[in-house]
Amino acid sequence: MGPSARFGTLAPVGFEENRALLNTCFRACLPAWTSDFLQDRQEDFSCDEAKMALAVELSRRNVLEGTGGPFGAAIFESHSRRLISVGVNVVVPTRLSIAHAEIMALSLAQTALDTHTLHVSAPDVSKVYELVTSCEPCAMCFGAIPWSGVSRVLCGATSEDATAIGFDEGPKVEDWPSALRARGIEVTQEILRAEARSVLDTYRERGGPIYGGQLLE
Ligand SMILES: [Zn+2]
Repeated sequence: MGPSARFGTLAPVGFEENRALLNTCFRACLPAWTSDFLQDRQEDFSCDEAKMALAVELSRRNVLEGTGGPFGAAIFESHSRRLISVGVNVVVPTRLSIAHAEIMALSLAQTALDTHTLHVSAPDVSKVYELVTSCEPCAMCFGAIPWSGVSRVLCGATSEDATAIGFDEGPKVEDWPSALRARGIEVTQEILRAEARSVLDTYRERGGPIYGGQLLE
């Protein structure tokens, strides 16, 4: 049986016409407001709630500024509590389906630290990195976590909170925290869940787009 009629039945695009589409790099930037947002922050991030408050604040600001989806994330160096990077969802403005808050924060941390992995082998535990995300990871971000090298994941709103407003979390394994723990990654859930969920509700009330694999109406 031949390929489905959905694939490959139209005349091919001409070479010259196609060459204009053949990019060799792409850029993914956080919204301009994030520079000011990160200036003069005095928090000491002494507890999980303080770290999550930053991720939730990022998600809320992203909604209010209209610069992407209702999700925020950050990477911290665990022992020093140093903030390494932040991320917000910029899927629609960047035209990148992968530009979730977690992917942005992980990528910015890796490029800032000049390493493709945030994993540091014992005994050098002075640099252990944690991902703080305002909502539990989708299937893509769940997959990215082990590859990123982070040692800990802190989550705010739950996957159910995200699906309740229409987002698709994708084909994630059912017991995803156990899957990460089996790889030595600590997972803590429902930190400031109500605050994180309220941002999702605000996004829905403001009519924010539910982007995903389907084209937006
Ligand atoms: Zn994601």
